[in-house]
Parts: sequence; C-alpha cells; structure tokens
Amino acid sequence: ATTAAGKHITLLHTNDMHARAVESTSGEMGFAKLSGIIDSYRKANPNTLLLDGGDAVHGTTFATLVTGESVVQVMNKMGYDAAVPGNHEYNYGYERLLELENAMTYPLLSANTRVTKDQSLLYKPYIIKEVDGVKIGIFGLTTPETAYKTHPNNVKGLTFTDPTKEAKAIVEELKDKTDIIVAVGHIGQDAASEDTSLKLLKEVSGIDVFIDGHSHTVLKDGLVAGNGTLLVSAGEYTKYLGVVDLWFDNGKVIKKQAALIDQKEAAAIQPNAEVAALVADIQKSQETILSQEVGKATGKLEGTRELVRASETNLGNLIADAIRDAAGADIGLTNGGGIRASINEGVITKGDVITVLPFGNQIVTLKVTGADLKAALENGVSDYPNPKGAFPQVSGIAFKIDAAKPAGQRVHSVTVGGKPLDVKKQYVVATNDFMAAGGDEYVMLGHYPQAGMYGSLDEALIAYIEKLDGTLPKVEGRITAA
Ligand code: ATP
Ligand code: ZN
Repeated sequence: ATTAAGKHITLLHTNDMHARAVESTSGEMGFAKLSGIIDSYRKANPNTLLLDGGDAVHGTTFATLVTGESVVQVMNKMGYDAAVPGNHEYNYGYERLLELENAMTYPLLSANTRVTKDQSLLYKPYIIKEVDGVKIGIFGLTTPETAYKTHPNNVKGLTFTDPTKEAKAIVEELKDKTDIIVAVGHIGQDAASEDTSLKLLKEVSGIDVFIDGHSHTVLKDGLVAGNGTLLVSAGEYTKYLGVVDLWFDNGKVIKKQAALIDQKEAAAIQPNAEVAALVADIQKSQETILSQEVGKATGKLEGTRELVRASETNLGNLIADAIRDAAGADIGLTNGGGIRASINEGVITKGDVITVLPFGNQIVTLKVTGADLKAALENGVSDYPNPKGAFPQVSGIAFKIDAAKPAGQRVHSVTVGGKPLDVKKQYVVATNDFMAAGGDEYVMLGHYPQAGMYGSLDEALIAYIEKLDGTLPKVEGRITAA
C-alpha cells in the first residue's frame, strides 16, 4: 500500500433524497442548501468525496415530470463522485436508468446487479479513487428487494444477487489494491428485510466504511458494526448531509469519525447559487404543466401513508372509482402504497395528481375468479391493522376484516355490486399494471393475462375529478373491521 502519513480524507454522503429539490419547513434542505454545506467541507478539506446511497431520481414531480433527468442535472452540478442505484432508481424502467446513467458525470456502482441471461454486471462494481495519494476502493450494493419493490417490467431481465456474497468477493479483490474500502449500499437496516447492512457486516470483514440507504435510518454518529466497520446513514429527503472524516498514518486508517449535519446546524450556511439557479430554472420549465387546474376539492382527500395503507380513505375510494370507471369494470382495485400523498381542500392541479400518483401506472383489466379476488383481498390485509403497501383501496366491492383471525383467513362478507361474492364466477377487475403483474405480492393476479388496457392512472383520475365536479368522495364503509 502507498504511504499516506498524516493524511485526512472526508467522505460526504446522502441517501434516499427522493428528489426533494427545495428547502422545506419539515427539515428538508433541498439540493442548493446541501450543496452549500458540501462547498464548506470542500473548502475546509479539498480531499473530499461525495457519494450517494440511492433513491435519488424519483419521489416528487420535480423528478417524475422528466423521468429523473432533472435530478441527474443537479447531482452533476453538485459534483457527486459515485452513487449506488437504489430500488426507486428503477421506477422509470431500467432502460431509462441506463439513459440517465449516460447523462451522469459520476458512475453508478453495484456489485450485485446482474443481467440474468449471462450473469454479467450491469454497472461497474467498484471504482478506485486516488485522493492525496490514498487509494480508496468504493463499491456499490443494491437491495435484492428491488426485484419486487418496483414494477416487474422495470427490472425484467435483471437479477439482484446476494449482496453478502458479492461484497466478500469485492473486498477480496480490492484489499491488496487499495488503502481503504468503502461500500455504498442501498441495503438498509429494516429488521424485517432479508438482507440488512448489519447482517452483511457480521459476515464480511474488511470494509472500513459502509454508507447505507434504503431504510431511511438516521445514524447521528454512525455505529461500529461487524468487524470494526463504521456504518453510516443520513436519513432521508435531504434532511441530513453525512460526514465521515478519516485520518491516515502510513497508509493505515487510524481514526474514523461520523456526523450528520441538519438544517439547524447549517442555518448560517449559504445555499450554492449555481445549484439554486439550476433548480429554479427546472422548476420554472415545469410550472405551466404542474399548475394546470384539473378540479376542486371541497375537503381534504386523504392519502396519508399510515391511513391509506391501513384503511379505506376518501382518496382511495376516488382513485379506485376512477380506475373502475375508466375501464367499465365490475371492480376497481388499487394498492394503498401506490397513493403517495394527500390532496388539500381547494384547487386541484395536475401537479397534485402527479404527486399522488407518481409511478406512471397504466390501468389494466383482468378476468379474475371470485376465489382469487378473495385471495387478493387477503393479501392486501395480511398485516392489518398495521400499514402495508399492498392494502387494497376498492370500488364496486365491500368487505369486512376480522383481524383476530390469522392472515389469509380474515376477509369475510365480501359483496360485489351489492351481491355476495361468488367464488366460481369471473369478475372483470380493473387495477394498476403494477398489481396486475403481481407487484406487492399479488401473485394471484399476476397469473392472469391482461384482458385490456385503459390508459394511464393519473389521466383517469383527472378525468374522474372533472366528472365529479366538486362532489367530495366519502368513506362509506367499503372496508370495515368486524
Ligand atoms: P423507500 O426506499 O423510500 O423506503 P420503498 O419502496 O422501500 O421506498 P415504500 O415507500 O413503502 O418503500 O414503497 C413501497 C410501496 O410502494 C410498495 O409496497 C407499493 O405499494 C408501492 N409501489 C412501488 N412501486 C410501485 C408502482 N410502480 N406502482 C404502484 N405502486 C408501487
Ligand atoms: Zn428510499
């Protein structure tokens, strides 16, 4: 290894920014402010790298309207050195991600994203950066949950291989070529996940710093995991800039220190003017489309995550009705997890609609037996009363949940169009293409061929809002606990 006595390197990191472009009162700093803080660190120590732990290019209209390109433009300006593709990077399909990658001035790294047919790697697994004479190996890892946390078509032909196994191999390859090894993972620390960074680090030693994303975890000063790895994670939505300081003596790390900088601590720091101007330019170009008025809400339309993933809401009903209406189907069915925001009382704009439905879903119909319909509802409420993305918002049907019963046997008193469900009958179910393809574990729907396609979900919602002409949809007992 090279000699690098008395050296100091700073790693700055972000994760799960989800296209939060501007400063907000809920602690989101936005890109310009983040950039200002980054500038101050680069000034204090020119030996600084900037890395992202994934889920950057999707999450607000700022990104959705241009399928991610805006965020890439901004991240280029911010001067990222590398990023890992997270599950949400795939929301526009992986071909689109490869286009975005072409536009990036920094590499996407993932050592466990492979092309299924020949097992070749889709991205570079790692880079080696030489900073002040120190050789830094940086490799990426993507959560295998990406395989089912996005529309199956978005990751068709890709395999997300075991991150632990791939990490071991990379460390083996990098250890003699580098002075320090840094993992940038979109793996996360959610105990319910099959793969977590904590589990991985119990099995893989030799990683000096693990920059994590996916679970949106806030690790104030990082934590020491596994065999002495410093594990860090900077929350979500540009609320924190992560800072890892590394001191070297004779080519060896002698001290590692982590911190997170938030809006309060950064109060005195000026936003980066160039990034601010770029964000403003992009916003201006989007304004005309977003501000288009599509209707009025005479009360709040409820899309709060915890509610829409665990109960019937008026917005859930509205969207399920819009889907059923657009397709002229017996039943409308949509996942609560696909409803990403509420709409406040007052004017409804196109921007509001895209914020609620950012996935660009299409409406499809399936001819489903009553038995499979029941199984689908069971899948949606298996965690009830806890929130779950799969939770069904419905139209044309009503049912009851007995939460005392085990998952799979808790749905009862199902009616379709007011009549008891006939398990043998075929019903025309209109749903979104994500669920129709088996997303959110709706495997019983995934088995059916698509009977018809009825345009995009956001356009159908806009059309239905116009039709309603100000009538506020209600919670009307379609889904009840009993
Ligand atoms: P994050 O990394 O931000 O935590 P996540 O995807 O891991 O995101 P959630 O925010 O809970 O976790 O989002 C997952 C849910 O989003 C899925 O369970 C599903 O309900 C919904 N979802 C994801 N992709 C789509 C899609 N293409 N269409 C409809 N719904 C989707
Ligand atoms: Zn995320």
